[in-house]
Amino acid sequence: MNKQCDVLIVGTGVSALYSCLNLSENTKIIIVSKGTVKDCNSYLAQGGISTALNAMDIASFIEDTLIAGQRVNDINSVTVLAEESKDNILNLDSLGVPFDKTSDNTFEYTREGAHSVNRIVHCKDKTGEIVSTHLFNLVKAKPNVEILENCTLCDLIVENRTAIGGYFNYNDTPLTINSKFTVLAMGGIGGLFKSSTNNPLLTADYISIALKHDIEFKNLDYIQIHPTSLYEEGVGKKVLISESLRGEGAKLYNIRGESFIDELLPRDVVAKAIFKEMKKTNSPYVYLDIHFLQEDYLKKRFPLVYSSCLEKGYDITKEPIPVTPCHHYFMGGITVDLDSRTSLKNLYAVGECSCTGVHGKNRLASNSLLEALVFSRREALDINEKLNTAKLIPHYKELDLYTLNAIMKENKEISLEEFKKRSSDLDVEFISD
Ligand SMILES: Cc1cc2nc3c(=O)[nH]c(=O)nc-3n(C[C@H](O)[C@H](O)[C@H](O)COP(=O)(O)OP(=O)(O)OC[C@H]3O[C@@H](n4cnc5c(N)ncnc54)[C@H](O)[C@@H]3O)c2cc1C
Repeated sequence: MNKQCDVLIVGTGVSALYSCLNLSENTKIIIVSKGTVKDCNSYLAQGGISTALNAMDIASFIEDTLIAGQRVNDINSVTVLAEESKDNILNLDSLGVPFDKTSDNTFEYTREGAHSVNRIVHCKDKTGEIVSTHLFNLVKAKPNVEILENCTLCDLIVENRTAIGGYFNYNDTPLTINSKFTVLAMGGIGGLFKSSTNNPLLTADYISIALKHDIEFKNLDYIQIHPTSLYEEGVGKKVLISESLRGEGAKLYNIRGESFIDELLPRDVVAKAIFKEMKKTNSPYVYLDIHFLQEDYLKKRFPLVYSSCLEKGYDITKEPIPVTPCHHYFMGGITVDLDSRTSLKNLYAVGECSCTGVHGKNRLASNSLLEALVFSRREALDINEKLNTAKLIPHYKELDLYTLNAIMKENKEISLEEFKKRSSDLDVEFISD
């Protein structure tokens, strides 16, 4: 099967959907997901999206982001992130995203670790699901967009250092998509770890593809461990206990009931302190306690955490819960400039699979969805400018299913090896270790 379009977007998370909504109305777009549309990290995000509150807050937001990132962040990207944050939040608001608001109709800003003020907008503790569903419904209504589920990118098509589309396994049928521009919005790397908060389908296929085509990427060792996932024995996807619980006063204790850390320090610091305490007390977890807040308030403010914990036998309104750090986020990725352009002509990368450098070595809470919004909009505006003069370079070759499946398997294996090689001193384990 062969298809052609102006813009091919690989991914259906927030970065992909927002990119789609910012491309000009007359652009023919194909957007694909590896599983169903919902099989991505965007639908899992809980805490919210950070934003500078106003022009006065920009410097402080930049400083908080740099402190969390250990000052190896790209300062130009961080400045763009902070300066364009509020405009993008207001844009989502005008698109009808139902953010939690106060009685006078202003955003109900909450706080998370290492932010010096309350500056996170949210939709209860289901921000990702609510924002993604809303954006997806807007994308679905567009006549110029075709959405393909269970459509895995196996390889890019590259001619003369220019991306001209991709080879896909689409529901076990070979598919070649030929495009003027290609946008990688392929998310994180959680599927490569024994325990992760991520959707396990996300196996960083883009690293293997980038290696093959000599596309620049960087910082494979910048991997974020989230301090608090619900402790469960065994391998697989873990329930995230959002940082916003600590933002709203939740306390950490070791199994002896001793407090050991300021809960609002950056994620890497808190995660390290928890690992140390677990070792000291010979326990696979520590406790997180928020049951002292009003039961009604907790159920209303944290419905997702409340119900997910209850399902596993813990009631956050009545008792402390066991938590442990696990893999959460990837700060490295495909190297991009301020308009999300990669080192290959007509290829862009946005969201978690890209490396804009905004997060440095450690992402500040709720800066990921913001990065996805700010830089996918910049990518779309850059493509809009070029679209009228861009020409499709026709390509009709197809790969057979056997070859596509072999490449898919190889992509996961090569990416895994590459991460293992460059991140040998992590406190968490890769699959098959
Ligand atoms: C539990 C959890 C809670 C979080 N909470 C927050 C929060 O409160 N605030 C915040 O800012 N961030 C949060 N994050 C991080 C944030 O959700 C993600 O970084 C962000 O959603 C990434 O968006 P994305 O569009 O880059 O990728 P994703 O939403 O992960 O989408 C990736 C897409 O790529 C597709 N894909 C991958 N490989 C292929 C392939 N080979 N072929 C075809 N398609 C492919 C997938 O199908 C998917 O559609 C959280 C993450 C998790 C896991």
